[in-house]
Amino acid sequence: MASFFTDLAPNVIFNSDPTAVIDFMKSHKLLADSCNCTCCTKPMELVARPTTSDGFGWRCTNQRCQKRHTYRTIRTGSFFEKSKVTLNKWLYAIYLWSQESKVNTVVKQVDIGEKTVIQMYQYLRDVCSTKLLNTPIELGGPGVVVQIDESLFNHKSKYNRGRRPKKELWVFGLADTSFKPAITYMELVEKRDAATLLPIIEKAVKPGTIIYSDQWKAYCNIQTELKLQHATVNHSVNFVDPETGVHTQAIELYWAKAKYKFKVMKGVSSDLLPNYLDERMWRDRWGSSKDNTFTNILAHISEQYPV
Ligand SMILES: [Zn+2]
Repeated sequence: MASFFTDLAPNVIFNSDPTAVIDFMKSHKLLADSCNCTCCTKPMELVARPTTSDGFGWRCTNQRCQKRHTYRTIRTGSFFEKSKVTLNKWLYAIYLWSQESKVNTVVKQVDIGEKTVIQMYQYLRDVCSTKLLNTPIELGGPGVVVQIDESLFNHKSKYNRGRRPKKELWVFGLADTSFKPAITYMELVEKRDAATLLPIIEKAVKPGTIIYSDQWKAYCNIQTELKLQHATVNHSVNFVDPETGVHTQAIELYWAKAKYKFKVMKGVSSDLLPNYLDERMWRDRWGSSKDNTFTNILAHISEQYPV
């Protein structure tokens, strides 16, 4: 893929000519490469429409067609269909999202209103959620250690002493330690009891997995009910069990990383938290470098919005 910054960014930012961006989007199957007239079914032609924000549109050139004077937008069926933001700005915003830029950075650098950027970021997180739903993860496997833990995501900060969170947001997480860094699955849970957590473990790990956890009571039947090996560390005594070496540091390190971002965003509402967790998991699986984060989000958009 052409390097975004060297080949395309100058066009995106400074040039009002949208041709380069349209070509780029066509080559990544984000916009249709061709299009047939809905009336006469003959191929339409891509023609300049300087009065529109896209600068181009599809037109039927069949002289005998009743609809030969009507245009069709180049966004039909695409991820961008319902948006009023120019394609140049969209592409640049997607790029900044892939680099984990904050909403405010996009507002300033791309010159889009804050509410619109928040909405655009939400659309991108929806793409992440759909991708995860379509490709469920299976952690562990024979002899592989998966660490599990629950974590409170809206614990009161030291600056808000005495103000208890309206509703506690507990996230249950599983980290496969055979990957470095560990690959993790997270889910917002209503309760932290065995009836809630054990089915999640069963869903997320392969048979033969070894589970490491602390001594939370919900975990005590993992071995009998799920037929998985299970070892614990008593956190009130040690962080690493001195005899067995059992610890849950990978998942705890992961909590710190995941929560740092939410803290920067000054907290996330309970409605949106699952979506943000999805974004985190998506980045862990498909965003191992800045380049492939951008390439993969474009690929997943085009998968979900076939043109
Ligand atoms: Zn036609």
